[in-house]
Amino acid sequence: MKVIIDENKCVGAGQCVLAAADVFDQRDEDGIVVLLNPLPPDDLGAQVEDAALRCPALAIEVVK
Ligand code: SF4
Repeated sequence: MKVIIDENKCVGAGQCVLAAADVFDQRDEDGIVVLLNPLPPDDLGAQVEDAALRCPALAIEVVK
């Protein structure tokens, strides 16, 4: 699984961090998403999918 984020779409809602804290973080300055792990292990797959679904800005793309 590969995760791609679009910082330009991100509105800093933080839903991704709540869903998958091992994969996503937010910048202190403006809350924009930081991708901690672009190639998360399969056991985090459900969390990453959940993060992508929750993101109100559709800023997270999951490639399988
Ligand atoms: S949920 Fe989406 S909009 Fe919110 S911080 Fe994460 S990537 Fe950005």
